[in-house]
Amino acid sequence: MSSEMDTAAFGEKHIAKGIGRLTKHVFDEGKGTFITTDKGVKLLDLTSGIGVVNLGHCHPKVSAAAAEQCMKMTHAQINIGFSAAQITLLKELIPILPHPTLDTVFLWNSGAEAVEAAVKLARAATKKPNIIVMQGSYHGRTNATASMTRSKTIYGEGHGPLMGGVFATAFPYYSQFGGATPDTPTEELVNMSLLQLKLTLQQQTSPSDTAAIILEPVLGEGGYVPAPPAFLHGLRKICDEHNILLIADEVQCGMGRTGRMWFVEESGVRPDILVFAKGIANGFPLSGIASSKALMDLQKPGSMGGTYAGNPVACAAATATIKAFRDEKVLENVAARSKQIFSFLNDLKASGTKAGNLIEDVRGSGLMVGLQFKNPALQRDSANAAAQNAKIQGQIAPKVVAECVKRDMLLLSTSVFDVLRFIPTLTISEEELSKACEIFKEALEAVAK
Ligand code: PMP
Repeated sequence: MSSEMDTAAFGEKHIAKGIGRLTKHVFDEGKGTFITTDKGVKLLDLTSGIGVVNLGHCHPKVSAAAAEQCMKMTHAQINIGFSAAQITLLKELIPILPHPTLDTVFLWNSGAEAVEAAVKLARAATKKPNIIVMQGSYHGRTNATASMTRSKTIYGEGHGPLMGGVFATAFPYYSQFGGATPDTPTEELVNMSLLQLKLTLQQQTSPSDTAAIILEPVLGEGGYVPAPPAFLHGLRKICDEHNILLIADEVQCGMGRTGRMWFVEESGVRPDILVFAKGIANGFPLSGIASSKALMDLQKPGSMGGTYAGNPVACAAATATIKAFRDEKVLENVAARSKQIFSFLNDLKASGTKAGNLIEDVRGSGLMVGLQFKNPALQRDSANAAAQNAKIQGQIAPKVVAECVKRDMLLLSTSVFDVLRFIPTLTISEEELSKACEIFKEALEAVAK
């Protein structure tokens, strides 16, 4: 019966409904910035599998390294012995971490697992229970990380009780403050957010109970908003004053995404724990945390581990990924393509056209670009007539995404604030990005008309 069923229909029937899915396409092959479906449809991929295949789908050197490792050793259990593939990787990885004190690593599989490892380490090291997260944050969907995720209620709804001891504070993003706009000075947003944090420490969880403050240095699922350097410096200062650890979750914004290997490099702020995943192995499941040796070694032997933690095939892929960043001048391409997309989107916003008038804000860093629509439905800007004039009901971003999909381009929305996120491969060519911009413009015009 099943063998005669259409592949997508089989998936609909037998795969969990709890997965939110953008399209009904069945992805069969990926090469560079393109995905081909089982029906031969070629899609321009501006999602990179949500910031995973930063070097493009099936980067030849990464795939070759994984294939070679596959023939050598596929499972090297880290609770039984050292893994050669893991040690080879760490020799490449540690020198590119954002601070020389981050010299000790624990590898796991997924981003959520790595965030949990960071929480465990922070609690064990400080002997304090509570964690402060940012409003709008996303850290995963496991029980602990769903509790820490504050971008949309759907991730926790109906699944309680989630891990306790988590408190949320403000991130300097204008949409999270009544009366603020994209023109609100950064300094004001930073001051308001740092004030909220100080109040959180006075009113909700005292410093003596607070193990760590965790943030995504570029808020991802919460709206694609880079943290201003002054905010990161402010967090560092508060953490130092109160013996609280600072955890940077660079699962989405790390590994070259913002034009530097790690976003925290821009500010020079040192996190006590760095969390990485996604782009680290360009499509193979690998994640981890890095900290100083003194901190990491406060975890008792036996308290960390996992059957598949730091799988050797994923480690070989990660080693090849890091080498490719070095050998193929990937960050130079990010800088050039970032300029290209920002100038296209800002020109469109300023164009005075119906489509351009829908755009409220273009922001981001490198190739982690957010575009927010003016949307009276969000009741932040009732004076804004653009979307009202266009008589668009509800959120604009999902409609634009649907128009892009009709034109064989994959694009994602994010957050509750009507935001589109552009997160192409870091190796996308000038021509591919021009084509993507053209398709996006057509899609937006179709929604605006
Ligand atoms: N942290 C951040 C910042 C993320 O973007 C994600 C995934 N979107 C996660 C953690 C969770 O990673 P995973 O899905 O691999 O568990």
